[in-house]
Amino acid sequence: MVVFLCFLKLVNVWWNRTMASHIVGYPRMGPKRELKFALESFWDGKSTAEDLQKVAADLRSSIWKQMSDAGIKYIPSNTFSYYDQVLDTTAMLGAVPARYNWNGGEIGFDTYFSMARGNASVPAMEMTKWFDTNYHFIVPELGPDVKFSYASHKAVTEYKEAKALGVDTVPVFVGPVSYLLLSKPAKGVEKTFDLLSLLDKILPIYKEVIAELKEAGATWIQFDEATLVKDLEPYQLEAFTKAYSALESACSGLNVIVATYFADVPAEAFKTLTSLPGVSGYTFDLVRGEKTLGLIKSSFPSGKYLFAGVVDGRNIWANDLAGSLTVLKSLEGIVGKDKLVVSTSCSLLHTAVDLVNETKLDDEIKSWLAFAAQKVVEVNALAKALAGQKDEAYFSANAAAQASRKSSPRVTNEAVQKAAAALRGSDHRRATNVSARLDAQQKKLNLPILPTTTIGSFPQTIELRRVRREYKAKKISEEEYVKAIKEEISKVVQLQEELDIDVLVHGEPERNDMVEYFGEQLSGFAFTANGWVQSYGSRCVKPPIIYGDVSRPKAMTVFWSSMAQEMTKRPMKGMLTGPVTILNWSFVRNDQPRFETCYQIALAIKDEVEDLEKAGITVIQIDEAALREGLPLRKAEHAFYLDWAVHSFRITNVGVADTTQIHTHMCYSNFNDIIHSIINMDADVITIENSRSDEKLLSVFREGVKYGAGIGPGVYDIHSPRIPSMEEIHDRINKMLAVLETNILWVNPDCGLKTRKYGEVKPALQNMVAAAKKLRAEL
Ligand code: GLN
Ligand code: ZN
Repeated sequence: MVVFLCFLKLVNVWWNRTMASHIVGYPRMGPKRELKFALESFWDGKSTAEDLQKVAADLRSSIWKQMSDAGIKYIPSNTFSYYDQVLDTTAMLGAVPARYNWNGGEIGFDTYFSMARGNASVPAMEMTKWFDTNYHFIVPELGPDVKFSYASHKAVTEYKEAKALGVDTVPVFVGPVSYLLLSKPAKGVEKTFDLLSLLDKILPIYKEVIAELKEAGATWIQFDEATLVKDLEPYQLEAFTKAYSALESACSGLNVIVATYFADVPAEAFKTLTSLPGVSGYTFDLVRGEKTLGLIKSSFPSGKYLFAGVVDGRNIWANDLAGSLTVLKSLEGIVGKDKLVVSTSCSLLHTAVDLVNETKLDDEIKSWLAFAAQKVVEVNALAKALAGQKDEAYFSANAAAQASRKSSPRVTNEAVQKAAAALRGSDHRRATNVSARLDAQQKKLNLPILPTTTIGSFPQTIELRRVRREYKAKKISEEEYVKAIKEEISKVVQLQEELDIDVLVHGEPERNDMVEYFGEQLSGFAFTANGWVQSYGSRCVKPPIIYGDVSRPKAMTVFWSSMAQEMTKRPMKGMLTGPVTILNWSFVRNDQPRFETCYQIALAIKDEVEDLEKAGITVIQIDEAALREGLPLRKAEHAFYLDWAVHSFRITNVGVADTTQIHTHMCYSNFNDIIHSIINMDADVITIENSRSDEKLLSVFREGVKYGAGIGPGVYDIHSPRIPSMEEIHDRINKMLAVLETNILWVNPDCGLKTRKYGEVKPALQNMVAAAKKLRAEL
């Protein structure tokens, strides 16, 4: 009997050692966005807290079960969230800003969702992008007065919940140092407060949680410290050493994983990370972290676990299993067989959920893809292969799919590749400088000073959405569809004429989304039915998939733009989405560099620009709403990105006449650090979001940056239903005139009007035009 038990134990040890697979984190939304609908119904008062909790618990249990069935050894818990994992940490630490009137005790939905979304009397906390992803987190607001307390037991509850289901999980936390580095100082102490000084105050709470987890039986714990991949100062790196030294005794008996992702860890930070006391292993992103392999090879500490992130958490491509296996085998030689764990490059939160629900994609494209559920299987298959139990059938199917993707004529278009490759050497700049161009354009356009315009879209009514949906579903004929859209355009044109706006738009009624609309008409793009990725809270986006060389089979917008131009004597802006934005809001190819794909899109948009010009459109706006979003995490890489991104934009309009006016639009005001790149785009006019941060934008010009092109900093916030008064807009324009020349200033809202109602848009634009006219009279 004893011998038999020993034998069982041995098998168990062998099994555990050899089948090492780990998942950094998993999407919460559910394969069909179940959490989104449950949240929104709860917020609307249509269902109870219990209903919401039930949906959440079902999602968690199915995810744990799926990973456990797949054979994953280190399964994460506490990666579920009702809104955001950083907000969950804020709740755990009881760091609720005073304005939410929280009275202590366990934080419930009321306080939690008030922080996330605001309530009738208090606005939400700020939200910002999570590293360079499209996920947005709720920014903690911390000052010297915050009284931290252990106020959300979510992590422990979830650990126990999984355990009760028979799954022993690794509870995952936003690490203490990253939490502070991602926070902002509270109002009043913005300039002076040192966030890291709070470390001593939050660590005791982490310790309490750790103690409870140990008590509940946890043996592993994961701290996500992805800020380690950023450019950090020495004192910031020291905070990591300080924090993990302080946690060491609390963590004794636990295996601690420190997770990094989204890039390689810079050499200095790597040293700090791998010397942290009390840590058993590290996760590294081997997909985006170009230097990670080198660092591991030269200086991975002995005796530690390496969680090797070879399966891409940020994309939807099937893994090249043979390639990954080679890398893993080489790592085995460095860290030792029993210390290597196969993992994902980052949390799978940033990819789509499950390929099983894709009914729109054909089998060939499907065979090239892996969403979160499939990636879990890939991770485990790699772990099994390392353990000598390679699933040959699975690996050969994967190899066949990889080969088909490489050789498919749907992927490669040699003419496009050649044209894109030829772009690299030269600058692609319009021959005439911007001030001469503006003169030539003014002769043709004859606009008043402070010309008024809007950004493109007009309100998208339910009726309009229905028409588009029915046309797509072939429930109405093309003729009926064109008629309906034409009527809408004509309404929008008439309204703008009545308002006396100078440069008109057609209102974009035919577009569901500014990227999807173009992607659907370009070759090389595919669309999913359920490939949703969480953007923030309950909001998800469904990025197109760019799988092949991009080309434009035929004109995409000329039909609608010329139709709209025929309805008016005023200039009608052609309206396009720029290459960088299309790229940044899609799942992109991983078989060629991003810039290559961007150049290809740029060439397609260039064709469209030139066709619009031929059709008599004299003002063309090329939106680059997401140009800034693509900035790499580390400063050293900014110049290269900005260079090809700005170049791509210039390619689109290098071929037009001086008299054709090129506009661009950007959705953020925070561009002080990239202003020279924006000037380098060489657009004739740029309209930018501004009204939520007047001063910031204008300070660039106050500091003496020379800007010769037309510029339209938004004069009112379109994100709010509030109607700005004439006086307020007038004041705002006046402030701009203090730093910008009168003859370059344009008057326009912050962004497109598609989410607003006509009842808001009409009076707001009326006031905007009145303010411009008043100023013209005063100047
Ligand atoms: N032209 C687009 C619109 O007006 C621009 C949207 C955007 O900048 N996000 O809707
Ligand atoms: Zn915008």
